[in-house]
Amino acid sequence: MSDIIQLLPDSVANQIAAGEVIQRPASAVKELLENAIDAGSSFIKLIIKDAGRTLIQVIDNGCGMSETDARLSFERHATSKIRKAEDLFSIRTMGFRGEALASIASVAHVELKTKRTTDELGTCIEIEGSEIKKQEMCLCTDGTSFSVKNLFFNIPARRNFLKSNTIETRHIIDEFQRIALANPQIAFSMHHNGMEVFHLNSGNLRQRIIALFGSNYNERLVPIGEETSIININGFVSKPEFAKKTRGEQFLFVNQRFIKDAYLNHAIVRAFEQMLPAGSYPSYFLYIDIDTKKIDVNIHPTKTEIKFEDEKSIYAIMCSAVKRSLGQYSISPTLDFEREKNFDLPLSYKNTTPVQPSININPNYNPFDKKEEKSYSPFQKVESENSKANKNEWQKLYSGLERQDESVLPPNEETQQKLVGSDWEKEDDKLTYQLHNRYILSHIKSGIMLIDQQNAHERILYERYLHSLVQNQGSSQQELFPQAIQFSPGDFELIKELTPDICALGFDIHEFGKNTYVIHGIPTDIIDGNATEILEGIIEQYKQNASDIKIDKRENLARSMARQTGIKSGKVLQIKEMNSLINELFACTMPHSSPTGKPTLWIMTLEELAKRFEK
Ligand code: ADP
Ligand code: MG
Repeated sequence: MSDIIQLLPDSVANQIAAGEVIQRPASAVKELLENAIDAGSSFIKLIIKDAGRTLIQVIDNGCGMSETDARLSFERHATSKIRKAEDLFSIRTMGFRGEALASIASVAHVELKTKRTTDELGTCIEIEGSEIKKQEMCLCTDGTSFSVKNLFFNIPARRNFLKSNTIETRHIIDEFQRIALANPQIAFSMHHNGMEVFHLNSGNLRQRIIALFGSNYNERLVPIGEETSIININGFVSKPEFAKKTRGEQFLFVNQRFIKDAYLNHAIVRAFEQMLPAGSYPSYFLYIDIDTKKIDVNIHPTKTEIKFEDEKSIYAIMCSAVKRSLGQYSISPTLDFEREKNFDLPLSYKNTTPVQPSININPNYNPFDKKEEKSYSPFQKVESENSKANKNEWQKLYSGLERQDESVLPPNEETQQKLVGSDWEKEDDKLTYQLHNRYILSHIKSGIMLIDQQNAHERILYERYLHSLVQNQGSSQQELFPQAIQFSPGDFELIKELTPDICALGFDIHEFGKNTYVIHGIPTDIIDGNATEILEGIIEQYKQNASDIKIDKRENLARSMARQTGIKSGKVLQIKEMNSLINELFACTMPHSSPTGKPTLWIMTLEELAKRFEK
């Protein structure tokens, strides 16, 4: 028998590598931007068309390439950044594997124009799916321009796997933001479909954060600075009161490389302990500078994970640095430093060989491992008799919103299920009591009933909003002074996508230039609160729901609105308000639980009461 092993042709090997390195347009953006940074550019321009499907172009004013280098740059394992194996341990550049350009060229139409300052003429190369179509001298400016067209033209499966333009653009913006944050000294711009999305001048980190996220970030930032013999930490964290409902704005960089590190994230969040409202996440922009010999960046193909030699010390230093800065800015006068001495490093720690602080850390802790909320739909099988009575034609409105993966309500005690509407006698001035500003106590025919005001009101609003969405008839009250809100580009894309539904709820909003919307009116149901804050809150909540659970768009919006605008625990209610809340609750299709499946009410029957008192 003849031998059967063959070497794969380069084009195939490159496509295989591309599968790992270039998963979506955003990965190509990342590689091209990183190359431009490694080339020492001071200005980098990113141009995108159709979320990167049609065009991704990166133009830089960096060192450029010679004719031979330009040709070689597309070869696999062709890199100017490492020469020998030991170099791997002292990498300061972004790239080093020499496979990005080879991979991109194997799955797209690529045009390269490049020129060094010392050369008269530049080089122009065109490649389609690893095949060189053209190479010639050309007139061009100093630096390099890469155009990547028709990404995945030869891999339909990959192309089909891409998500909506909104999502792919969001990924591109994420990469762009990370790179822009890591390099505030470099000027950047980004254009999408002919519109300038970002224009970032060279500046310091604070200026960069503001240019990316809006001028209101200026007052939100607390600077962090810590120098030790192992690492230096710089950057900013947000003041606790500006914590977000989503983890989006958490940026950690090691030697100017964006990384994800659950362990260090835990250290940072821990420093905020007890200062954050439940379910909120601090924003941070933190930069670790560390000797390259003490890390291994080579463990992940897309390099967003890093292995530290001395993880525990870094954890402790990070936590104490953040904590100290928060303390210094006297954000939390109640912060009890005494209790957690372990985290306060002695002053002598600085610039000396550190003693490993003793801390108890659960190595299995994974902050991303959040218990999923039970999803819930108005079609749940568990129904009370009351809800059946109330249902009539109403349910029909939800066809189309029905979901397959329904989970049932948390098990109700038998008595809870037995409640019927007639048990609650509708009377507007009936005696009801508010307990601890959060529960409503009332007597019903068969016993007593306790209602959680927040869960109950969320249920009422959720059904009302869902109704408005389906019927497209939310009513609006006009604002006296229309308010303009500027969103981050990512949120702006999201609002654009949601605008028809947001308007169906009763908002009257219009796009108003770059990343900005103007609110002319808000739903009539919203009694108090600032229009801007409400809309921002809804978007934050929407993003959080979308990342936590699989959920229909409208259902998510209705839930987010209900959560944002509902009565909260702690609000004092008048008797009339309580009675009307109960009346409205029992007019709901599913009065027994909040939209996220939390119970709204609890009943104790007369028999149970008698038993308790041993009657
Ligand atoms: P790596 O960045 O890992 O070295 P790439 O495939 O991304 O591998 O790039 C290959 C080589 O092409 C680089 O090492 C660099 O020498 C050259 N190169 C790529 N992009 C540029 C650019 N924008 N300006 C100058 N040289 C570049
Ligand atoms: Mg590279």
